[in-house]
Amino acid sequence: MIECDVERLRRWLRPGVLEAEVYPARNTHGMLCLDAMENPYQLPESVRRKWVECLFEQELNRYPDSNTQALSVALRNFWQVPEALQLLPGNGSDELIQLVHLALGSPGGKVMAPEPGFGIYPITARAVGLEFIGVPLQAEDFALDVEALLQSIRRHEPAVVWLANPNNPTGHCYDPAAILRLARAVPGIIVVDEAYLPYSQQGLLEVCLEYEHLLVLRTLSKLGLAGLRIGALIGQPAWLQQFNKLRLPYNISTLNQVSATFMLAHAEHLNLQVQRVCAARETLYQQLSGLPQVRVWPSAANFFLLRVPDAKQLQQGLEQRNILIRNLHDSHPLLHQCIRVTVGTPAENQQLVAALQELLAQA
Ligand SMILES: *Cc1c(COP(=O)(O)O)cnc(C)c1O
Repeated sequence: MIECDVERLRRWLRPGVLEAEVYPARNTHGMLCLDAMENPYQLPESVRRKWVECLFEQELNRYPDSNTQALSVALRNFWQVPEALQLLPGNGSDELIQLVHLALGSPGGKVMAPEPGFGIYPITARAVGLEFIGVPLQAEDFALDVEALLQSIRRHEPAVVWLANPNNPTGHCYDPAAILRLARAVPGIIVVDEAYLPYSQQGLLEVCLEYEHLLVLRTLSKLGLAGLRIGALIGQPAWLQQFNKLRLPYNISTLNQVSATFMLAHAEHLNLQVQRVCAARETLYQQLSGLPQVRVWPSAANFFLLRVPDAKQLQQGLEQRNILIRNLHDSHPLLHQCIRVTVGTPAENQQLVAALQELLAQA
Protein backbone atom coordinates (compact mmCIF):
# COMPACT_ATOMS: atom_id res chain seq x y z
CA MET A 1 0.00 0.00 0.00
CA ILE A 2 1.30 3.45 -0.86
CA GLU A 3 0.47 6.32 1.46
CA CYS A 4 -2.68 8.30 0.71
CA ASP A 5 -2.09 11.76 -0.79
CA VAL A 6 -4.46 13.63 1.52
CA GLU A 7 -3.47 17.00 0.11
CA ARG A 8 -4.65 16.00 -3.32
CA LEU A 9 -7.95 14.67 -1.91
CA ARG A 10 -8.48 17.85 0.05
CA ARG A 11 -7.76 19.99 -2.93
CA TRP A 12 -10.26 18.37 -5.25
CA LEU A 13 -13.05 16.82 -3.21
CA ARG A 14 -16.13 18.86 -2.42
CA PRO A 15 -15.92 20.27 1.12
CA GLY A 16 -17.38 17.78 3.55
CA VAL A 17 -16.80 14.65 1.51
CA LEU A 18 -13.69 13.63 3.45
CA GLU A 19 -15.58 14.06 6.72
CA ALA A 20 -18.70 12.22 5.48
CA GLU A 21 -19.19 8.55 6.26
CA VAL A 22 -20.19 5.58 4.15
CA TYR A 23 -23.78 4.56 4.84
CA PRO A 24 -23.39 1.64 7.26
CA ALA A 25 -24.06 -1.76 5.70
CA ARG A 26 -26.38 -4.18 7.48
CA ASN A 27 -25.38 -7.75 8.08
CA THR A 28 -28.79 -9.39 7.80
CA HIS A 29 -27.76 -12.99 7.23
CA GLY A 30 -29.67 -15.27 9.58
CA MET A 31 -31.01 -12.27 11.48
CA LEU A 32 -34.53 -11.23 12.40
CA CYS A 33 -34.52 -7.79 10.77
CA LEU A 34 -36.43 -5.31 12.89
CA ASP A 35 -34.12 -2.41 12.07
CA ALA A 36 -35.24 -1.07 8.67
CA MET A 37 -39.05 -0.81 8.69
CA GLU A 38 -39.50 -3.56 6.13
CA ASN A 39 -42.84 -5.31 5.71
CA PRO A 40 -42.12 -8.78 7.14
CA TYR A 41 -44.27 -10.73 4.71
CA GLN A 42 -43.44 -12.39 1.39
CA LEU A 43 -46.03 -12.41 -1.37
CA PRO A 44 -47.93 -15.64 -2.07
CA GLU A 45 -46.07 -18.10 -4.28
CA SER A 46 -48.68 -17.92 -7.03
CA VAL A 47 -48.19 -14.17 -7.33
CA ARG A 48 -44.44 -14.48 -7.37
CA ARG A 49 -44.61 -17.08 -10.17
CA LYS A 50 -46.72 -14.75 -12.29
CA TRP A 51 -44.25 -11.95 -11.56
CA VAL A 52 -41.32 -14.04 -12.80
CA GLU A 53 -43.25 -14.87 -15.97
CA CYS A 54 -43.78 -11.18 -16.49
CA LEU A 55 -40.05 -10.52 -16.12
CA PHE A 56 -39.28 -13.34 -18.55
CA GLU A 57 -40.85 -11.29 -21.34
CA GLN A 58 -38.57 -8.30 -20.83
CA GLU A 59 -35.82 -7.36 -23.27
CA LEU A 60 -32.74 -6.56 -21.25
CA ASN A 61 -30.83 -5.58 -24.37
CA ARG A 62 -33.07 -2.47 -24.55
CA TYR A 63 -32.92 0.61 -22.38
CA PRO A 64 -35.77 1.13 -19.93
CA ASP A 65 -38.68 3.47 -20.72
CA SER A 66 -37.17 6.82 -19.77
CA ASN A 67 -40.68 8.24 -19.29
CA THR A 68 -41.68 5.43 -16.90
CA GLN A 69 -45.09 5.57 -18.59
CA ALA A 70 -46.76 2.38 -17.33
CA LEU A 71 -45.26 2.72 -13.86
CA SER A 72 -46.41 6.32 -13.54
CA VAL A 73 -49.97 5.37 -14.46
CA ALA A 74 -49.92 2.50 -11.96
CA LEU A 75 -48.61 4.77 -9.18
CA ARG A 76 -51.13 7.47 -10.04
CA ASN A 77 -54.01 5.00 -9.81
CA PHE A 78 -52.70 3.37 -6.67
CA TRP A 79 -52.40 6.67 -4.80
CA GLN A 80 -55.39 8.27 -6.53
CA VAL A 81 -53.37 11.29 -7.51
CA PRO A 82 -55.60 14.18 -8.66
CA GLU A 83 -55.26 14.93 -12.35
CA ALA A 84 -53.92 18.43 -11.79
CA LEU A 85 -50.89 17.00 -10.04
CA GLN A 86 -47.77 15.57 -11.64
CA LEU A 87 -45.78 12.58 -10.45
CA LEU A 88 -42.03 12.09 -10.77
CA PRO A 89 -40.87 8.53 -10.05
CA GLY A 90 -37.44 7.92 -8.61
CA ASN A 91 -35.11 5.10 -7.73
CA GLY A 92 -36.44 5.07 -4.19
CA SER A 93 -37.46 8.30 -2.52
CA ASP A 94 -33.85 8.69 -1.40
CA GLU A 95 -32.93 9.49 -4.98
CA LEU A 96 -35.64 12.14 -5.15
CA ILE A 97 -34.40 13.75 -1.94
CA GLN A 98 -30.96 13.91 -3.53
CA LEU A 99 -32.49 15.28 -6.74
CA VAL A 100 -34.25 18.10 -4.90
CA HIS A 101 -31.00 19.02 -3.20
CA LEU A 102 -29.10 18.87 -6.50
CA ALA A 103 -31.61 21.24 -8.05
CA LEU A 104 -31.66 23.67 -5.11
CA GLY A 105 -28.03 23.45 -4.08
CA SER A 106 -26.31 26.80 -4.39
CA PRO A 107 -23.53 28.49 -2.40
CA GLY A 108 -24.81 29.48 1.03
CA GLY A 109 -28.06 27.58 0.48
CA LYS A 110 -29.82 25.99 3.43
CA VAL A 111 -32.08 23.05 4.06
CA MET A 112 -34.25 22.59 7.14
CA ALA A 113 -36.00 19.74 8.91
CA PRO A 114 -37.22 19.02 12.43
CA GLU A 115 -34.90 16.85 14.48
CA PRO A 116 -34.62 14.02 15.30
CA GLY A 117 -35.52 13.13 11.73
CA PHE A 118 -34.63 11.12 8.64
CA GLY A 119 -30.87 10.89 8.11
CA ILE A 120 -30.91 11.12 4.32
CA TYR A 121 -31.97 14.80 4.40
CA PRO A 122 -28.75 16.11 5.98
CA ILE A 123 -26.53 13.56 4.22
CA THR A 124 -27.65 14.45 0.70
CA ALA A 125 -27.93 18.17 1.50
CA ARG A 126 -24.36 18.42 2.74
CA ALA A 127 -23.08 16.35 -0.17
CA VAL A 128 -24.05 19.14 -2.57
CA GLY A 129 -22.81 21.91 -0.32
CA LEU A 130 -26.08 22.91 1.29
CA GLU A 131 -26.11 23.68 4.99
CA PHE A 132 -28.49 21.56 7.03
CA ILE A 133 -30.43 23.28 9.83
CA GLY A 134 -32.10 20.91 12.28
CA VAL A 135 -34.83 22.41 14.48
CA PRO A 136 -35.52 20.36 17.60
CA LEU A 137 -38.96 18.82 18.07
CA GLN A 138 -40.61 19.35 21.42
CA ALA A 139 -39.16 17.14 24.11
CA GLU A 140 -41.51 14.53 25.57
CA ASP A 141 -44.10 14.25 22.79
CA PHE A 142 -42.03 15.10 19.70
CA ALA A 143 -44.63 17.52 18.39
CA LEU A 144 -43.54 20.22 15.95
CA ASP A 145 -42.20 23.32 17.66
CA VAL A 146 -44.00 25.59 15.23
CA GLU A 147 -42.79 28.84 16.75
CA ALA A 148 -39.16 27.72 16.69
CA LEU A 149 -39.55 26.54 13.11
CA LEU A 150 -41.16 29.80 12.00
CA GLN A 151 -38.36 31.73 13.62
CA SER A 152 -35.70 29.54 11.99
CA ILE A 153 -37.41 29.82 8.63
CA ARG A 154 -37.38 33.62 8.86
CA ARG A 155 -33.78 33.66 9.97
CA HIS A 156 -32.29 31.10 7.57
CA GLU A 157 -34.62 31.28 4.57
CA PRO A 158 -34.16 27.61 3.67
CA ALA A 159 -34.54 26.49 0.06
CA VAL A 160 -36.46 23.44 1.24
CA VAL A 161 -38.09 22.28 4.46
CA TRP A 162 -38.54 18.51 4.87
CA LEU A 163 -41.33 17.13 7.02
CA ALA A 164 -41.55 13.38 7.37
CA ASN A 165 -45.14 12.64 8.34
CA PRO A 166 -45.25 10.30 10.24
CA ASN A 167 -41.77 11.18 11.36
CA ASN A 168 -38.91 8.69 11.43
CA PRO A 169 -37.67 7.82 14.07
CA THR A 170 -40.42 9.10 16.37
CA GLY A 171 -43.45 7.58 14.61
CA HIS A 172 -45.57 10.68 15.15
CA CYS A 173 -47.94 12.39 12.74
CA TYR A 174 -47.86 16.16 12.89
CA ASP A 175 -50.87 18.42 13.29
CA PRO A 176 -52.06 19.25 9.73
CA ALA A 177 -52.82 22.84 10.79
CA ALA A 178 -49.20 23.22 11.93
CA ILE A 179 -47.95 21.87 8.58
CA LEU A 180 -50.09 24.42 6.76
CA ARG A 181 -48.76 27.25 8.89
CA LEU A 182 -45.23 26.26 7.94
CA ALA A 183 -46.24 25.90 4.30
CA ARG A 184 -47.45 29.49 4.31
CA ALA A 185 -44.21 30.70 5.88
CA VAL A 186 -41.54 28.97 3.79
CA PRO A 187 -39.83 31.10 1.16
CA GLY A 188 -38.85 28.03 -0.92
CA ILE A 189 -40.53 24.63 -1.07
CA ILE A 190 -41.81 22.30 1.63
CA VAL A 191 -41.84 18.55 1.06
CA VAL A 192 -44.09 16.31 3.13
CA ASP A 193 -42.45 12.87 3.14
CA GLU A 194 -45.21 10.27 3.47
CA ALA A 195 -43.04 7.15 3.47
CA TYR A 196 -45.27 5.57 6.14
CA LEU A 197 -48.59 6.40 4.49
CA PRO A 198 -49.63 2.71 4.33
CA TYR A 199 -49.57 2.63 8.13
CA SER A 200 -50.81 6.13 8.91
CA GLN A 201 -53.47 6.58 6.21
CA GLN A 202 -52.99 10.33 6.59
CA GLY A 203 -52.00 11.82 3.27
CA LEU A 204 -51.84 15.47 2.27
CA LEU A 205 -52.07 15.23 -1.53
CA GLU A 206 -55.08 17.55 -1.66
CA VAL A 207 -53.04 20.31 -0.06
CA CYS A 208 -50.75 20.28 -3.12
CA LEU A 209 -53.71 21.57 -5.09
CA GLU A 210 -53.71 24.74 -3.02
CA TYR A 211 -49.97 25.28 -2.62
CA GLU A 212 -47.73 25.07 -5.65
CA HIS A 213 -44.64 24.95 -3.43
CA LEU A 214 -45.84 22.05 -1.26
CA LEU A 215 -44.79 18.66 -2.61
CA VAL A 216 -45.52 15.18 -1.34
CA LEU A 217 -42.93 12.38 -1.36
CA ARG A 218 -44.08 8.76 -1.38
CA THR A 219 -42.47 5.35 -1.71
CA LEU A 220 -43.36 1.70 -2.20
CA SER A 221 -40.62 0.67 0.22
CA LYS A 222 -42.58 0.51 3.47
CA LEU A 223 -45.61 -1.00 1.74
CA GLY A 224 -43.56 -4.13 1.16
CA LEU A 225 -41.40 -3.44 -1.90
CA ALA A 226 -38.23 -2.05 -0.34
CA GLY A 227 -36.11 -4.15 -2.69
CA LEU A 228 -37.57 -2.49 -5.77
CA ARG A 229 -36.43 1.05 -4.98
CA ILE A 230 -39.46 2.97 -6.23
CA GLY A 231 -40.55 6.33 -4.87
CA ALA A 232 -42.30 9.36 -6.33
CA LEU A 233 -42.44 13.09 -5.83
CA ILE A 234 -45.92 14.50 -6.37
CA GLY A 235 -47.10 18.07 -6.78
CA GLN A 236 -48.06 20.72 -9.27
CA PRO A 237 -46.03 20.70 -12.50
CA ALA A 238 -44.06 23.91 -11.93
CA TRP A 239 -41.37 22.48 -9.65
CA LEU A 240 -41.55 18.88 -10.83
CA GLN A 241 -40.82 19.83 -14.44
CA GLN A 242 -37.63 21.51 -13.30
CA PHE A 243 -36.54 18.58 -11.12
CA ASN A 244 -37.25 16.20 -13.98
CA LYS A 245 -34.53 17.87 -16.07
CA LEU A 246 -31.89 16.72 -13.59
CA ARG A 247 -33.14 13.14 -13.34
CA LEU A 248 -30.89 10.68 -15.15
CA PRO A 249 -32.86 9.37 -18.14
CA TYR A 250 -32.77 5.69 -17.19
CA ASN A 251 -32.81 5.99 -13.42
CA ILE A 252 -35.32 3.16 -12.94
CA SER A 253 -34.38 -0.15 -14.49
CA THR A 254 -36.74 -2.10 -16.73
CA LEU A 255 -36.93 -4.86 -14.12
CA ASN A 256 -37.92 -2.41 -11.40
CA GLN A 257 -40.46 -0.60 -13.54
CA VAL A 258 -42.10 -3.82 -14.70
CA SER A 259 -42.00 -5.40 -11.24
CA ALA A 260 -43.55 -2.39 -9.53
CA THR A 261 -46.27 -2.11 -12.17
CA PHE A 262 -47.02 -5.80 -11.74
CA MET A 263 -47.07 -5.59 -7.94
CA LEU A 264 -49.41 -2.60 -7.97
CA ALA A 265 -51.80 -4.62 -10.13
CA HIS A 266 -51.77 -7.15 -7.28
CA ALA A 267 -51.78 -4.59 -4.51
CA GLU A 268 -54.56 -6.36 -2.61
CA HIS A 269 -51.94 -8.77 -1.24
CA LEU A 270 -49.74 -5.94 -0.03
CA ASN A 271 -52.70 -4.10 1.48
CA LEU A 272 -53.68 -7.23 3.37
CA GLN A 273 -50.15 -7.56 4.73
CA VAL A 274 -50.22 -3.94 5.87
CA GLN A 275 -53.49 -4.62 7.70
CA ARG A 276 -51.87 -7.53 9.48
CA VAL A 277 -48.90 -5.40 10.48
CA CYS A 278 -51.24 -2.69 11.79
CA ALA A 279 -53.07 -5.29 13.90
CA ALA A 280 -49.73 -6.62 15.18
CA ARG A 281 -48.68 -3.04 15.96
CA GLU A 282 -51.49 -2.71 18.51
CA THR A 283 -50.55 -5.93 20.28
CA LEU A 284 -46.85 -5.04 20.27
CA TYR A 285 -47.59 -1.60 21.69
CA GLN A 286 -49.45 -3.14 24.62
CA GLN A 287 -46.61 -5.58 25.27
CA LEU A 288 -43.83 -3.01 25.00
CA SER A 289 -45.76 -0.66 27.29
CA GLY A 290 -45.84 -3.43 29.88
CA LEU A 291 -42.05 -3.84 29.98
CA PRO A 292 -40.35 -2.60 33.13
CA GLN A 293 -38.21 0.58 32.85
CA VAL A 294 -39.24 1.09 29.23
CA ARG A 295 -40.99 4.08 27.73
CA VAL A 296 -42.70 3.54 24.40
CA TRP A 297 -44.23 6.27 22.26
CA PRO A 298 -47.38 5.65 20.25
CA SER A 299 -46.74 5.21 16.52
CA ALA A 300 -48.63 5.85 13.29
CA ALA A 301 -45.90 3.99 11.37
CA ASN A 302 -44.61 0.40 11.35
CA PHE A 303 -42.04 0.94 14.10
CA PHE A 304 -41.77 2.06 17.69
CA LEU A 305 -39.37 4.36 19.46
CA LEU A 306 -38.46 3.12 22.94
CA ARG A 307 -36.43 4.64 25.76
CA VAL A 308 -34.62 1.94 27.69
CA PRO A 309 -32.13 1.91 30.57
CA ASP A 310 -29.14 1.11 28.33
CA ALA A 311 -29.68 1.28 24.57
CA LYS A 312 -26.29 -0.07 23.55
CA GLN A 313 -26.42 -3.00 25.92
CA LEU A 314 -29.92 -3.93 24.72
CA GLN A 315 -28.95 -3.64 21.07
CA GLN A 316 -25.94 -5.88 21.58
CA GLY A 317 -27.96 -8.35 23.64
CA LEU A 318 -30.60 -8.52 20.93
CA GLU A 319 -27.93 -8.96 18.27
CA GLN A 320 -26.53 -11.92 20.17
CA ARG A 321 -30.04 -13.34 19.97
CA ASN A 322 -30.04 -12.71 16.20
CA ILE A 323 -32.39 -9.73 16.34
CA LEU A 324 -31.43 -6.52 14.55
CA ILE A 325 -32.81 -3.20 15.81
CA ARG A 326 -31.53 0.40 15.65
CA ASN A 327 -29.71 2.00 18.53
CA LEU A 328 -30.41 5.76 18.27
CA HIS A 329 -28.56 6.84 21.38
CA ASP A 330 -25.95 9.45 20.39
CA SER A 331 -27.79 10.30 17.17
CA HIS A 332 -29.61 13.25 18.81
CA PRO A 333 -29.88 14.62 22.38
CA LEU A 334 -33.65 14.03 22.39
CA LEU A 335 -32.99 10.33 21.69
CA HIS A 336 -31.08 9.70 24.88
CA GLN A 337 -31.03 5.89 25.44
CA CYS A 338 -33.53 5.30 22.64
CA ILE A 339 -33.90 2.38 20.27
CA ARG A 340 -36.20 1.88 17.29
CA VAL A 341 -37.87 -1.44 16.54
CA THR A 342 -39.81 -2.36 13.42
CA VAL A 343 -43.15 -4.12 13.77
CA GLY A 344 -42.78 -7.67 12.45
CA THR A 345 -45.11 -10.65 12.22
CA PRO A 346 -46.87 -11.62 15.47
CA ALA A 347 -44.33 -14.45 15.93
CA GLU A 348 -41.38 -12.12 15.35
CA ASN A 349 -42.78 -9.55 17.75
CA GLN A 350 -43.19 -12.28 20.33
CA GLN A 351 -39.55 -13.20 19.89
CA LEU A 352 -38.54 -9.56 20.33
CA VAL A 353 -40.64 -9.05 23.46
CA ALA A 354 -39.35 -12.28 25.05
CA ALA A 355 -35.74 -11.25 24.36
CA LEU A 356 -36.35 -7.75 25.75
CA GLN A 357 -37.93 -9.20 28.90
CA GLU A 358 -34.91 -11.43 29.43
CA LEU A 359 -32.37 -8.68 28.83
CA LEU A 360 -34.17 -6.14 31.02
CA ALA A 361 -34.40 -8.66 33.86
CA GLN A 362 -30.61 -9.19 33.65
CA ALA A 363 -29.74 -5.52 33.70
C1 LIG B 1 -37.77 4.76 4.86
C2 LIG B 1 -37.96 6.18 4.56
C3 LIG B 1 -37.93 6.62 3.25
C4 LIG B 1 -37.82 5.61 2.16
O1 LIG B 1 -36.89 5.78 1.24
P1 LIG B 1 -36.82 4.85 -0.05
O2 LIG B 1 -35.59 5.38 -0.67
O3 LIG B 1 -38.04 5.12 -0.87
O4 LIG B 1 -36.73 3.44 0.39
C5 LIG B 1 -38.14 7.97 2.99
N1 LIG B 1 -38.37 8.83 4.01
C6 LIG B 1 -38.42 8.42 5.27
C7 LIG B 1 -38.75 9.39 6.35
C8 LIG B 1 -38.20 7.09 5.58
O5 LIG B 1 -38.23 6.68 6.86
